[in-house]
Amino acid sequence: MSLIFRDDAYARKTEATVVASGPDGIRLDRTPFYPAGGGQPGDVGVLRWSGGAVSITDTRKGADLVQEGPDVLHIPALDTPLPPPGTVVEAEIDWDRRYRHMRMHTALHLLCAVVPGAVTGGQVGAERSRLDFDVPGSSLDRDEIEEQLNRLVEGDHPVIPRFISDADLAAQPELVRTLSVQPPTGGGTVRLLCIGASDAPIDLQPCGGTHVARTGEIGRVQVAKIENKGKQNRRIVVALEA
Ligand SMILES: [Zn+2]
Repeated sequence: MSLIFRDDAYARKTEATVVASGPDGIRLDRTPFYPAGGGQPGDVGVLRWSGGAVSITDTRKGADLVQEGPDVLHIPALDTPLPPPGTVVEAEIDWDRRYRHMRMHTALHLLCAVVPGAVTGGQVGAERSRLDFDVPGSSLDRDEIEEQLNRLVEGDHPVIPRFISDADLAAQPELVRTLSVQPPTGGGTVRLLCIGASDAPIDLQPCGGTHVARTGEIGRVQVAKIENKGKQNRRIVVALEA
């Protein structure tokens, strides 16, 4: 299984061969579909082949162990004929939805850079996204956070994945901002997402999600609300203006 979204988040479609297929999911030899994980929803889209097509209503990680990373299950619409193994399909994601996820996801990295404290949870959505922070003893200013976020957007900083070894990550625990989500280790290397200059990053942390290539692509961000979720927990909800 070749995970095209990992190297090229902008890949909208690809030709692929069906490896296995059933109502619980279709496996392909390569895919641009991102499986739900790390707070980012799975992609939706369509598989087309000579004489047929099936809508993909979700993408999830399967239970199989595959060397390259997660086993990706393309969840088909109910009661639709499925392409049998060996079929060559064109696999195309719903790009408008995914691109919003990429912009939102990258905006949440910037939010991490702006707000102090550990991240205790989060969810990317096409309309709204949120991060929960453990911020002992501090109050958060909505306008100030929004202004700082948009300054980082306007800076049009590069967003570049790089890889380090599991051992190097273990030696730098400060890189892990999330308490609830363990970074995808175990394969020998960990994918880090770096925003800004590599020697003085704005944000640097393990992440397997999909992001835009430059922060300017996010466009203006609104801080929709800041909620108290427990004594120290603050939930920050952001939205895109366009
Ligand atoms: Zn990310």
